[in-house]
Amino acid sequence: MEHKQRIKKYEFIVNTSNEFMTMIDREHRYVEANQAYCQAHNRTLDQVLGKTISEMWGEEKTVIIRKFVDECFKGHEVNYESWFEFPALGRRCFEVYCYPFNEGEETTHIVVVSRDITERKELQHKVFVDPLTNMFNYRYMSQRLEEEFERARRYNLDLSMLFADIDHFKKINDLLGHQVGNEVLTHIAHIFGNATQPSFGNTARLRKADIIARFGGEEFVVLLPETGKSDAEAIGERIRATVEGYAFPHLDKTPEARITISIGVAAVPLDNIQNAGELIKKADLAMYEAKNLGRNRVSLYTD
Ligand code: GH3
Ligand code: MG
Ligand code: MG
Repeated sequence: MEHKQRIKKYEFIVNTSNEFMTMIDREHRYVEANQAYCQAHNRTLDQVLGKTISEMWGEEKTVIIRKFVDECFKGHEVNYESWFEFPALGRRCFEVYCYPFNEGEETTHIVVVSRDITERKELQHKVFVDPLTNMFNYRYMSQRLEEEFERARRYNLDLSMLFADIDHFKKINDLLGHQVGNEVLTHIAHIFGNATQPSFGNTARLRKADIIARFGGEEFVVLLPETGKSDAEAIGERIRATVEGYAFPHLDKTPEARITISIGVAAVPLDNIQNAGELIKKADLAMYEAKNLGRNRVSLYTD
């Protein structure tokens, strides 16, 4: 087949694709873009070509994109997921693949192919996120726990768990109603979430790798990869103290309605734990120990 005809056919394939396909040069300028990509931006091809990534996306988003683009220009295939705001589509989640395009030894361009995975992401959100608190749920925690337990076992890493339960929560519902109870749960979720923020204190705070979930009604679990038992205890103590000192709305007029939590800590490898389920069980047992000792405290699992 004649070369020109083949090019025409390739062009047709690229332009009928729903996936976004672009080519970017070393100055981060678009040198090719398929129709789907241009349409999503409400632009013609001429309005895309020659533009830089930051002209297309704005400086803030470009900071994230540039990291992957630069890596690809080093000659590595890169992929990542991110949410993007498209003029014609709104906010969508994309899986982005970047491939180096080499001339001789040098990567002169990169090819970027992106696929819309918003539906999959939204479904995952429904399955794994608790709607009241927006926290991960039991199902997510169980899955991640299996993975983290396996990783800790294989590489001989520390793995700790905090199991937290609100004290006398039934009384809060009885005194102030289920709705206020629900609000308390959302505030507690924020406290756990904020424990990952720098303002929470420079030491003994949660990290990005830690997994926080609403495990049941008024139970919260934190899984701490590569964290020993005494560090886990310090994090638990910090969260406990924050809850104790927190000014929950609606509660100021009811002095007997104080919100505190009891936390149990168990850890691999210290606590002779054989499987993921046992880590939960032992953290839960430690939490009951905290209840028995008078609540509003952190207890470590002991055999
Ligand atoms: P303890 O200190 O022993 O944990 O006492 P408790 O009252 O917290 O324990 P218990 O397990 O007896 O009761 C838990 C209560 O949590 C029962 C239920 O009314 C309440 N609860 C569970 N899930 C929710 C929820 O989603 N919203 C509200 N408002 N309350 C909930
Ligand atoms: Mg409970
Ligand atoms: Mg309780």
